[in-house]
Amino acid sequence: MTFSFIDTVPVTTGTVSVAFTDASLDLGDLAPEDVRAAGLAEIASVTGATPYLMHQVHGATVREVTDAEGFPDADGLVTRATGVALLTRAADCVPVLLAAETGEIGAAHAGREGVRRGVVTATVERLQALGARGLRAWVGPHICGGCYEVPEELREDIAAAVPATRATTTWGTPSLDLGAGVLAQLAGSGIPVVEAGGCTREDLTLHSYRRDGAAAGRLAGVVWRTP
Ligand SMILES: [Zn+2]
Repeated sequence: MTFSFIDTVPVTTGTVSVAFTDASLDLGDLAPEDVRAAGLAEIASVTGATPYLMHQVHGATVREVTDAEGFPDADGLVTRATGVALLTRAADCVPVLLAAETGEIGAAHAGREGVRRGVVTATVERLQALGARGLRAWVGPHICGGCYEVPEELREDIAAAVPATRATTTWGTPSLDLGAGVLAQLAGSGIPVVEAGGCTREDLTLHSYRRDGAAAGRLAGVVWRTP
């Protein structure tokens, strides 16, 4: 099983598909080259599009993709192109996919710094600047607020910027709910949302950094448009 979730929506200029991979693929920068290449080949085969990766740096920089070449430092990608599958990769961070009725697509990676810096809102605004109308979002699997324990000082720091992130673990210690923060940001932009997956730490079919440590793989959100 390649995808834990897949959806397709008709747009004025074709069809947009959105999907999230599961732990059967590892698309992380640290994955063995043959493992990562196999995962990318499978995505290319399933989508009929060239996978486009960004080098995620926990910032709020958004890049427009105009062809299939590149590996830019960014945490948001947007394009009007067909034939390119935008990827956002995560193992507990929040992968977000966006599609407009007018055909533009976007992908964002929101960890705690991305939530604080507003990378999802920046990606929405970049799409709107390209002329995107009728945007919808899909929020992929990520670690839940009940699992994502952080020091209290860190929780207060992030919650000061995005109050919806303030949470408590199931065992009663300070935590962050990054998904709630992203949902609040999307609501602030007036974007309807599909929640497309559960908690990465609890669901063993998904990659989780908190559960598996530095050797954890990375799942991907994938969005592409066909004519
Ligand atoms: Zn959880």
